[in-house]
Amino acid sequence: MEERMDEFGERRERMVADLMTQGLLRSEKIIKAFLEVPRHLFVGGENERFAYADYPMSIPSGQTISAPHMVAMMTELLEPKAEDKVLEIGGGSGYQAAILSRLVKKIYTVEIDAGLVSFAKANLAKSGAGNVTVVAGDGSKGYEKAKPYDKIIVTCATPEIFDSWLRQLKTGGLLIAPVGSGFYQELIRIRKTKKGLEKANFGGVAFVPLRR
Ligand code: SAH
Repeated sequence: MEERMDEFGERRERMVADLMTQGLLRSEKIIKAFLEVPRHLFVGGENERFAYADYPMSIPSGQTISAPHMVAMMTELLEPKAEDKVLEIGGGSGYQAAILSRLVKKIYTVEIDAGLVSFAKANLAKSGAGNVTVVAGDGSKGYEKAKPYDKIIVTCATPEIFDSWLRQLKTGGLLIAPVGSGFYQELIRIRKTKKGLEKANFGGVAFVPLRR
């Protein structure tokens, strides 16, 4: 057992070193989170040995866990702060939430697929992330109960930025989402300011679609 932990630890260090070389991981505390979260616990047993390769991977219900470089990029863009309350749309494996759990105060992650709600909960428990609540439901409505949020991260391809998300986001908050349809979206970050919405585009990405 210990030997296997070491093996995964080495692979994880290599993954992090590669992401740093590419300039995708920059902040010290985000690097630490990537070193700490055992990604192999989130991919499902048979994929364990590929867990530290930089590509997206199948998880149950025909969904995917995003590639490490995408999780790194989105986490950096979210500018996580220790006191933040974060809403994630698309819990999937729970890996993105587990990374954020090391960086912020509280995360609510909404997942529409009942099987993945259980999958994410089990993975998060195994990894020891105690500040993540997995919510079953349609995340296009956000999650009213725990609003307002400092940050919102959407991890499925959305045709639009829904008003519900913008309403549930604090002034001064950030939202990041892959916006588009089919196999191509653009990674959009919105900063909600007193004067209105500031939008920035971080280029082409490919996520599984938001379903309703
Ligand atoms: N963040 C995840 C990756 C998720 S893949 C991870 O780290 O593993 C996208 C997820 O969005 C899938 O699990 C899919 O079931 C979920 N999803 C799709 N439509 C949704 C909706 N309307 N509300 C909530 N989750 C949704």
